[in-house]
Amino acid sequence: MKLLILIGLIMGTAANRLFSQDEQSQRHNMVRQQLEARGINHRATLEAMRKVQRHLFVPARLRAHAYTDSPLSIGQGQTISQPYIVAYMTQLLDLKPHHRVLEIGTGSGYQAAVLAEMVEQVFTIEIVKELGQRAEKLLDSLGYDNVSVVIGDGYQGLEAEAPFDAIIVTAAPDNIPHPLVEQLKDGGKMVIPVGPPAAIQTLVLMEKREGKIVETNLTPVRFVPFTRSQ
Ligand code: SAH
Repeated sequence: MKLLILIGLIMGTAANRLFSQDEQSQRHNMVRQQLEARGINHRATLEAMRKVQRHLFVPARLRAHAYTDSPLSIGQGQTISQPYIVAYMTQLLDLKPHHRVLEIGTGSGYQAAVLAEMVEQVFTIEIVKELGQRAEKLLDSLGYDNVSVVIGDGYQGLEAEAPFDAIIVTAAPDNIPHPLVEQLKDGGKMVIPVGPPAAIQTLVLMEKREGKIVETNLTPVRFVPFTRSQ
């Protein structure tokens, strides 16, 4: 009996190891085929995308699809972005290790984890309490102690921790929320999808240079709507 349990344990561990090796190789393929092949070349971004275990951020039933080239449903009508979009937006922020970054739209916590691999501190705001709490638990259990999850309406940003070196918004408002512009450091960058809900929006890069705002329209995207608390 004891021998059987022991054999079971050894096989279980071996299966787990095989499984995680398999996921690591899926991640490396994802980075090569979906990111590098499409021009993502920022080293720290690629490294973070190779490292963060995306399969842990998607619902168990979708785990087998975690590394495919598409967005996935994370419940509550929300989605985790396609890996390419996560990498593209991250690369645009031009992050440095000492940076403090604000994310609006925690969702699964995946984008926050990617940021947390690259910078000193990440603040992320989620309006759906269940999602925010779930993401916070997962990020904690994975040892991301440089991420603070805040439940609330991200429209107001996070005045108490401002200014930020970079801001990333992963839900689409009609217009860029003014408080976020205010809370961006001089020399800082914000990436945000802007446009009407349930339609094609535009990914905008906003830079603050000597107090001036420079906006560049980049590419059509489709994000879930930016909602407001009542
Ligand atoms: N970055 C996420 C994906 C986010 S989906 C990830 O990596 O998984 C967009 C998220 O923005 C959703 O979870 C949605 O609930 C949230 N959201 C929408 N409007 C918001 C607002 N005003 N403030 C904070 N979060 C918001």
